[in-house]
Amino acid sequence: MNQTTKTILIFVGALAVVGIALSFVSLKTDQKVDITTLASNIQDGKIKSVSVQGTEIKAVTTDDKKIVSTKESSESFSELMKNYNVDAEKLRALPVEVKEPGGAAYWAGALLPTIIPLMLIVALMWFFFRQVQGQNSKAMMFGQSGARESGKDDKDKVTFKDVAGVKEAKEELGEIVEFLKQPDKFTALGAKIPKGVLLMGSPGTGKTLLARAVAGEAEVPFFHISGSEFVEMFVGVGASRVRDLFLKAKKTAPCIVFIDEIDAVGRQRGSGLGGSHDEREQTLNQILVEMDGFEPNSGVIVMAATNRPDVLDPALLRPGRFDRRVVLDPPDLNDREEIIKIHAKKKPLAKDVSLRHLAERTPGFSGADLMNLMNEGAILAARKNLKEIPMQMLLDSIEKVLLGPERKSHVMNEDERKVTAYHEAGHALVAHLLPHADPVQKVSIISRGRAAGYTLKMPIEDRTSRSCEEYKEDIAVAMGGFAAEKIFFGDITTGATMDMKNATKIARSMVTQWGMSEKLGPRTYGVQEDMIFLGREIHENRDYSDDKATLIDAEIDRLIHDGLETAKKLITDNKDAMDRVGEKLLAKETLERDEFNETIGLTKPKKS
Ligand code: ADP
Ligand code: MG
Ligand code: ZN
Repeated sequence: MNQTTKTILIFVGALAVVGIALSFVSLKTDQKVDITTLASNIQDGKIKSVSVQGTEIKAVTTDDKKIVSTKESSESFSELMKNYNVDAEKLRALPVEVKEPGGAAYWAGALLPTIIPLMLIVALMWFFFRQVQGQNSKAMMFGQSGARESGKDDKDKVTFKDVAGVKEAKEELGEIVEFLKQPDKFTALGAKIPKGVLLMGSPGTGKTLLARAVAGEAEVPFFHISGSEFVEMFVGVGASRVRDLFLKAKKTAPCIVFIDEIDAVGRQRGSGLGGSHDEREQTLNQILVEMDGFEPNSGVIVMAATNRPDVLDPALLRPGRFDRRVVLDPPDLNDREEIIKIHAKKKPLAKDVSLRHLAERTPGFSGADLMNLMNEGAILAARKNLKEIPMQMLLDSIEKVLLGPERKSHVMNEDERKVTAYHEAGHALVAHLLPHADPVQKVSIISRGRAAGYTLKMPIEDRTSRSCEEYKEDIAVAMGGFAAEKIFFGDITTGATMDMKNATKIARSMVTQWGMSEKLGPRTYGVQEDMIFLGREIHENRDYSDDKATLIDAEIDRLIHDGLETAKKLITDNKDAMDRVGEKLLAKETLERDEFNETIGLTKPKKS
């Protein structure tokens, strides 16, 4: 029976009880009269006998009818009658029986009317409180941490086997697992085990997963709370939640406290970034106090995860706090294959599926992206009522994860289609004719996400560093769409906006970060925390003069201009090829790699 039906049943029961009680009170069928009527009846000699009980006066008339009236309990019946001008001898002649007030019925009659509403109110309040608590609303438990504890016998227990790649991180954390399992081994040698471990890595690299795996491996309780849960509703709640969390943890040691997304509370104090930082500061202070407050070998290990280590308060990173830092790298080719393997378990795959090939096609994908990819493939196959997932659907899913779902419903008119086809043909042709640019995998004029069409290029291998020449070609490829529109239609559309943004971004990084401009020399401009591996832009502190700023702008302009010229030249020199690709796109909408190579009819130059 679920909560709601229970509540309803109890309610109906209560109502029934109340109804029965009320009907008892009003069961008296006797005729009710007021005192005046009763008095005049007595005066007229129409009453045979009277019995008085408490406030109730029961009288029997000469024709044997029963009538009832009430009086105040303090007044005596005879006094009352005298006041109503009933003759004294008439009263004396009347047999009056006075009964002691009492008996269950009497008390029930007197008290029920007061008790029932009270009971109702109490019951209502009780229901309300239970409802509120049942729905896990935190209104009633401000100060409690709300941390979810998962123990050893968790059904969906995660171990290191469920985490692929991130080898260094796993090794590092293996140490922690060993300590949690056999603390004596370490303490006997006087070793101090770190209190805090900070997991760092870009979104989707498996930080949360790995933390759960550590608990699973060590078979200890695991308190999981997300940083944003500390910052809620009322000021001061965060700090008391932290206190509560650590109190619980210390009682259950050895155990792991995991604070996910700690950047929500652990931002640099006083930086004023984001609102309500008072609350955050208090919470952060409390975390620091708690971490300092327990002995290194007490068996409580605090793990935290973040994808913004750059914004963390340095105080968190001081020795004795989160002094162990574990970086989760984005997966390389082999890791990707392993991750895909994990997420391919329980999924029936067709014979033609090559996980290796999928891994090759997904450079830059995070673990979460890969999980998403396998899931999308399964969904596609299920919607087509297939029993197995074919390779083609997994390949289609790559694009879905990369670019968002296809928007077949987005109807373009003929002009739009033509511009889009030549725009994409421009990107593809430039990419094809430049030696270092990644080979074209697919060109399409089907809208995806926010793009009208797309040209999919894929590096053949994972790369960690690239050369100046490659970036220059990337800019040219990005400007290919713009150039094609300009050359074939003499006009440009908003479709080139994202392309220009990309080109500008590459050019800016080349000049200010990678020392690829002769004029500006081998130095960086603007202080960026060394967290570029997280793939995020962080606000920049200017550390150069205005002269240099002008120069930087000029160099960015030059790089983009050069790229555009390269693209324009290639397109003008190969107008026939452009027409071939453009027309084919208009006819077929999507060209796969082989079809594209055939249509363009030109060979890709070799890298020199
Ligand atoms: P993060 O916390 O770093 O943002 P998560 O741990 O939440 O990432 O990862 C999201 C999901 O992606 C996981 O539940 C898991 O299914 C998958 N995943 C990510 N990394 C890996 C990995 N290295 N091995 C296996 N699965 C992974
Ligand atoms: Mg996470
Ligand atoms: Zn474009």
